[in-house]
Amino acid sequence: MKDYSLDRITTEDFGAAIDSDRPVIILLPVGSVEPHGPHLTLLTDTVISQGCAELAAQRLEKNGMTVFIAPAVPYGVTDCAAAFKGAVSIPEPVLTDYLAAVVQGFLDNGVDHVCLINNHLEPEHYSAVRQVPKRFDDGKASLACPLSRRWARTLSDEFKRGECHAGRYETAIVLATDANGVKQDVQKTLPEVPVSLSDNILAGVNTFDAMGMENAYAGAPALATKEEGDDMLDRLATMVVTEVLENLG
Ligand SMILES: [Zn+2]
Repeated sequence: MKDYSLDRITTEDFGAAIDSDRPVIILLPVGSVEPHGPHLTLLTDTVISQGCAELAAQRLEKNGMTVFIAPAVPYGVTDCAAAFKGAVSIPEPVLTDYLAAVVQGFLDNGVDHVCLINNHLEPEHYSAVRQVPKRFDDGKASLACPLSRRWARTLSDEFKRGECHAGRYETAIVLATDANGVKQDVQKTLPEVPVSLSDNILAGVNTFDAMGMENAYAGAPALATKEEGDDMLDRLATMVVTEVLENLG
């Protein structure tokens, strides 16, 4: 698979892409650094954003665009998980300002469009990320995030029930992107935790421990398969491609 990351791009390569006739799109993966049960790593949300960025990049290129995947911004607002080791939360306004500065930096380089891809779903984090495209002229920036009703309905039943933290859905996607990112011997032993994060948050319960997620996961990670992960990634990539094509100026 072609490598779309900026990691190996020189200033000359980047300049040549900007000077060409093809529109240049930056995909910016956004995540969190927070606990994801006993079986997934702290970087899980970033891994998911990165995984769908890679698939979306291939499809956008076929649509006549030049695509780069920018270095991710992994730190987010993670107050729900504060009681667990490994949660590193930054304030909402700081995240909005920082992400907006990154977008501005790419636009100043002559890039046509920046799409933020976010897979950390805590409300304050979502709110911080959602503000970013609003700071730019139409067509310059967009957000692809499965929390919006339009995209949530395309995902799995577990996701729609709101049991979407380190359960079957997220575990499957990590199995599909980087199987080494899952402790599979642990994963297979984990009992189902039928806790809806979205229902709890609506009811004003805002921490994993108060929700009954004593191991920092919900849903049924033991049922996750690579095949389901491939399917979910495909749907998330459709979300990214659609947001870019609809919002591109
Ligand atoms: Zn997650």
